[in-house]
Amino acid sequence: MPRVYPASLLSSLTTLRLGGRAAEEFRLDSEDELDACGRWASSLKLPVHVLGGGSNILARDGTLPLLLVRPNFRQGPEVLGEEGDKVIVRAGASVRLPHLLARCAAWGLSGFEGLTGIPGTVGGAVAMNAGSCGCELLPLVRSLRIWSPGTGLKDIFPGQWQFAYRYFALTNAEKYFFIISASFCLTRASSNGIREAMRLNYFKKKSTQPVLAWSAGCAFANPSPELAAGKLLDEAGFKGKRLGGMAFSPLHANFLVNEGKGSAGAALDLLGQAREAVQGRNGITLQLEIKVFP
Ligand SMILES: Cc1cc2nc3c(=O)[nH]c(=O)nc-3n(C[C@H](O)[C@H](O)[C@H](O)COP(=O)(O)OP(=O)(O)OC[C@H]3O[C@@H](n4cnc5c(N)ncnc54)[C@H](O)[C@@H]3O)c2cc1C
Repeated sequence: MPRVYPASLLSSLTTLRLGGRAAEEFRLDSEDELDACGRWASSLKLPVHVLGGGSNILARDGTLPLLLVRPNFRQGPEVLGEEGDKVIVRAGASVRLPHLLARCAAWGLSGFEGLTGIPGTVGGAVAMNAGSCGCELLPLVRSLRIWSPGTGLKDIFPGQWQFAYRYFALTNAEKYFFIISASFCLTRASSNGIREAMRLNYFKKKSTQPVLAWSAGCAFANPSPELAAGKLLDEAGFKGKRLGGMAFSPLHANFLVNEGKGSAGAALDLLGQAREAVQGRNGITLQLEIKVFP
C-alpha cells in the first residue's frame, strides 16, 4: 500500500510560489516503493506529474486533477571511479544541482561550470536538459537509473534516451518515468580554476536576471540559438509588463515573476498575451519552457 499524505500546496513547493493541491500525492522515499507507486498510479487513472525542486513549474490554482509524485533520492554525490581520462560521479535525483556543482568543484572535477546558478535537483536538470552559458547537462551524462511503468527499474545509457535544447525523452517513449540517479563523466582540473569560472558565470547571470525573485527561470524557450525569446518579448513591449500580481521582469523580459500576490490564472493570461503579441508581430509561436501542472 502506498503511504498517502495530504497533498501539499504547490505554491509552497515551487519557486514561482503558485498553485493549489494535487488530487493525490505520493512521496517516493526508496526504490522498494517504485512498483507500488506505479500500481497506484494505474489504479487512479490520473496523469502522473513528477516534482523535483519545483524551479521550472507553473502549477495551476485550485485542486489539480493529477497524481503528484515527489521522489526523495538523496544519495551522493560520490566518485565511482575513472574511465580513461574521465572521472565518473553519481548523484541521486533529489540532490540539489548547486550542491553537486560545489562538491565537484571541491574535488577538482570540471564540466558543470556553465550550469552555475541553476536551482533545482539533479532529476529535474536531467528531465529538462538544463543548460546555460554554452553548457548542457545531457552531454555529460554517462548513465541514468530510471523507473518506468513498462520496464521497471533499470540503468540506461546514451542511445536509450533522446535530448535536445531543453528536451529529454526515453527512446521507448514511456508516458512517464522517474529518474532515480544519474552518473556523469567529468574531467580533472584545478579547483580554483573551476570556482573562478563558476563565480564569473554567476555574476554574469546576477547582472542580467532577477535571480532572487519568485520565478521559474525563462518562461519561453528560445526559438533558435540565434533568437532569444527575451528579445522578442522586449521588442513586443512585455519587459516589465504586469498583470494581476505577475510581471515580466524589468531586468530580463523572459523571466515571469510573481510579485507576491500573483495567481496561476494571471500568469497564464500574461503568458497568453505575450505569445499572441509575438505571434502577431514576428509570426513566431513561442513555446513554453516552464512546465504547466497539469
Ligand atoms: C532563478 C532561476 C534561474 C534558472 N536558470 C536556468 C538556466 O539558466 N537554465 C535552465 O535550463 N533552467 C533554468 N531554470 C529553470 C530550472 O531551474 C531548471 O529547469 C531545473 O533544472 C529544474 O529542476 P527542478 O528539480 O526544479 O525540476 P522541476 O521544476 O521540479 O521539474 C522540471 C521537469 O522535470 C521533471 N522532473 C523533475 N524531477 C524528475 C525526476 N526525478 N524524474 C523524472 N522527471 C522529473 C518534472 O516532471 C518537470 O517536467 C532557472 C530557474 C530559476 C528559478
